[in-house]
Amino acid sequence: MSSTGANSARTAAPAHGAAEKLGARVSVLLPLPLEGPYDYRAKAVGPLAPGDFVAVPLGNRELLGVVWGPALGDVARAKLRDVVTRLEAPPMPATLRRFIDWVADYTLSPPGSVLRMAMSAPAALEPPRPVRAYAPAAPAPELRLTTARRRVLAVLGDGPPREARELAREAAVGTGVIRGLVQAGALTEMDLPPPPAFARPDWRRRGPKLSPDQGRAAKDLRERVRRGRFAVTLLDGVTGAGKTEVYFEAVTATLAEGRQALVLLPEIALTPQWLARFAARFGAAPAVWHSDLSQTQRRTTWRAVAAGEVRVLVGARSALFLPFAELGLIVVDEEHEAAYKQQDGVAYHARDMAVVRASLGEHPVILVSATPSLETVVNVERGKYAAAHLPARHGGATLPEVALVDLRAQPPPRGRFLSPPLCAAVTATLAAGEQALLFLNRRGYAPLTLCRTCGHRLHCPNCTAWLVEHRFRQQLMCHHCGYAAPSPAKCPDCGAEASLVACGPGVERIAEEVEALFPDAGIGIMTSDTVRGPEAVAELLRAVDEREIDILIGTQMIAKGHHFPLLTLVGVVDADLGLAGGDLRAAERTYQLLHQVGGRAGRAQRPGRVLVQTYAPEHRVMRALESGERDRFLELEAEARRSGGWPPFGRLAAIVVSGRDGAAVERVARELGRRAPRGRTILTLGPAPAPLAVLRGRHRFRLLVKAGLGAPLQARIDDWLDRVDAPSSVRIHVDIDPYGFL
Ligand code: ADP
Ligand code: ZN
Repeated sequence: MSSTGANSARTAAPAHGAAEKLGARVSVLLPLPLEGPYDYRAKAVGPLAPGDFVAVPLGNRELLGVVWGPALGDVARAKLRDVVTRLEAPPMPATLRRFIDWVADYTLSPPGSVLRMAMSAPAALEPPRPVRAYAPAAPAPELRLTTARRRVLAVLGDGPPREARELAREAAVGTGVIRGLVQAGALTEMDLPPPPAFARPDWRRRGPKLSPDQGRAAKDLRERVRRGRFAVTLLDGVTGAGKTEVYFEAVTATLAEGRQALVLLPEIALTPQWLARFAARFGAAPAVWHSDLSQTQRRTTWRAVAAGEVRVLVGARSALFLPFAELGLIVVDEEHEAAYKQQDGVAYHARDMAVVRASLGEHPVILVSATPSLETVVNVERGKYAAAHLPARHGGATLPEVALVDLRAQPPPRGRFLSPPLCAAVTATLAAGEQALLFLNRRGYAPLTLCRTCGHRLHCPNCTAWLVEHRFRQQLMCHHCGYAAPSPAKCPDCGAEASLVACGPGVERIAEEVEALFPDAGIGIMTSDTVRGPEAVAELLRAVDEREIDILIGTQMIAKGHHFPLLTLVGVVDADLGLAGGDLRAAERTYQLLHQVGGRAGRAQRPGRVLVQTYAPEHRVMRALESGERDRFLELEAEARRSGGWPPFGRLAAIVVSGRDGAAVERVARELGRRAPRGRTILTLGPAPAPLAVLRGRHRFRLLVKAGLGAPLQARIDDWLDRVDAPSSVRIHVDIDPYGFL
């Protein structure tokens, strides 16, 4: 993120300005990719204030939008159209509106596209439906009382009115009986406000007794919350140090101040265990927000956040765009996670935008990690962020010992992937009655299938990518576009039978090898293909807990949060996997991921051990894993980035030009290349065909703009793109601070 961004946001107007009424004409922002808000007449609906949700005409449609401010005056008065209605919904808070503008400016996206993310539950704008309830009529009319009717009236007694379904259940009658009583005038109908859907977490409950280190960190964070000013703190500590317990204390302080708290988690870490843990600490579950919510859940949650009924919400990155009215704290757990970056559409990094949102709302933000991103570490060094450290694991559990297995010296037997030292370690672990985890960050059976006869490689028809074999589903799949086809019996190119061979391992293939080597062991596979949905995850975790599973094999899905007391061995099958390719953060990410996976070993009383299989034991990532010198690794990594002027010591923007017509795409890309920003502090690389040169049937070219820290990156790009014409069939996507380079 721009080093100046968050700070300059601080000097803007206060967040809780009075909602001044606007005049006869207002501008309204619509959740569409338009240049900006449009003017409308407010006459028909009375005075409006910024943030009011309204329905307005656009062309021959009627759309919902948000009053953004006074009219811009760029449309002739006679042409102005009327706002149709003002909705009975809590207005969008000023902080959120300013945040939307800020994100739009920073990411070079139309503000309406950002607004769209903040209006992801349009149904929430309708007033909540009242609940229809029934009570005995007074005075009671004369009527024939069957036993069923008597039971209904007895249930109601002097108690509160009830809904028909509830009443019928308690009285053990059909709803027809209730209808009959209404018709006979014995029951009256009434509308009650809907009951609150979210219990309030109780901040007065005591947490665990904190260690001195934890206590110091918690006190520091609580004070920042009470001061209620913008501040960023990195909460840095090894896995198991109690970071979650510590930031729960900051949540407590936020609730005590009467403000709302938002905890961001990578979607994959938003597990039932996490929710159960929160509920155990606060006596009530938090509200949740992620991509799998039903429309109804979205609608009630959105509305309850706006109404201040939700006090703590835990969510994936998109939760940042919810209409919190009284937000007082944001926690970004696992702040280093790449999942915080949204690549498509409005390309934003939720960690960075959380900092911006906190600065606009003038409250603290806590970034949490055992392996903080280099960006954050550098911000701490520069004095922009504060840091709190938790050096040790709670309760004296030791960190696992990490050893490298040099695959050049100790290769696995031909056609296999587990080296002799790793196999021996698994054997010893099982003999001790303990459990092992084998980690390979690759789904499926094999990443590549080729024909032994003609050499043909099976590739995706829509993408520049090999098809991945999934034996479990008996399919070949493209991990980029989701294309799937049954595994063919013969080569689609030369027709040779039984000639297709799998190359390289995925987790399913490792499972096959493990089954052959350890036929008596219980084996579990944890990937997004084999374990779908929270219930399946819970079932697998139960099986591990109850020792039905001795060897767990998984992708990065296993790296997160789960805690198994008897798991003492972690084997990393291919540590080099993430290092290939041209990603500038490849080393950093590999370190983070492998460190995290290793952290699964020996979290309880028994010490853990991690074996890392690699062909590059001398690489700085492997060295750092082996020695545990995280900070030394970060220094070396910083050095490498600084000398190249790469982030966070320089800035980047990726431009991807794409479309179905390859020639048109290339033409636009070349034209962009000719006019690209170039100067003393800014340069443009490319265009070049993207590594994923075709994705979902679209041809792709990339350019990379590289700039010094102080360079006006966005302004230059904005200017540049304005001067290049592209047919509507060619899309130009801008990604400021890119994290993906495919
Ligand atoms: P982190 O978030 O740093 O990985 P956690 O907060 O999950 O660490 O703590 C690891 C484990 O230790 C959890 O089971 C947690 O409940 C426990 N724990 C941490 N601190 C304490 C404490 N002060 N008292 C009791 N249990 C604690
Ligand atoms: Zn594909």
